[in-house]
Amino acid sequence: MWVRICLPRRIDPRPCHPLYSLHMFMSNILHSINMNAYRGTIYRARPLRLTMIVSPLKGLTMRIQEHVKLSTTAAVVALPWLKQDVWIPLLASIGIDIDHYLWHAVTHRTLSLRAAARYFGQADPPQLPQAKFLHHPIVLGSLFFIALRLRSRFLFLILAGLLFHVSLDVIHISQMKGLKKSLSQQAQYHCPECGKAEAALQLHTLHFANNLLERYAPRHFMVLCPACHEKAHQDAGQAER
Ligand SMILES: [Zn+2]
Ligand SMILES: [Zn+2]
Repeated sequence: MWVRICLPRRIDPRPCHPLYSLHMFMSNILHSINMNAYRGTIYRARPLRLTMIVSPLKGLTMRIQEHVKLSTTAAVVALPWLKQDVWIPLLASIGIDIDHYLWHAVTHRTLSLRAAARYFGQADPPQLPQAKFLHHPIVLGSLFFIALRLRSRFLFLILAGLLFHVSLDVIHISQMKGLKKSLSQQAQYHCPECGKAEAALQLHTLHFANNLLERYAPRHFMVLCPACHEKAHQDAGQAER
């Protein structure tokens, strides 16, 4: 599907005109989301594949579809107790990762999901705590005290969902650390791709197993030096295009 984005090149209503403030308001919004860059250009609107959305978080946290699977399973187990409220922790557990997107939108001044996917899809994306602020113990602790103070079942259920998600991330990170250590030792701290000696090899996922029991099988991973890892991600990105 081809889409032409046509934005007015210049609107010049008089400052006293009511349209002027609307125009200023709209221009500020358009400027802030970098729409000016697309003014009058033609681009191909491609369907956004699910992989583009879920890939940003690989390595950094557990992938979104894995969170969806595990959180839904937990919700089914909790259904007899929570009944119609079960969707509250479920949505909180799945929605918490929106903090990555929000952080990227604010710091890079773009609402583009594709740009966020590219940023977090780098071989070794910067691990900034502010990019995952909703996962932070201070936010979770504050929510706990507010929930306690207001005696709000709703807030407690949100907190339960967030804590479930964060616990999954903790397990994921410890599994990935263990894999990196054992595979680095196996490779004797040399990159298997280029042979370079490297003290800090990076863990690269070759295959995301659908079966969660197979998820951390060592055969689905390899260690690479930072340069070869970056190249592997670039090649994978090109293959997707
Ligand atoms: Zn290498
Ligand atoms: Zn990788």
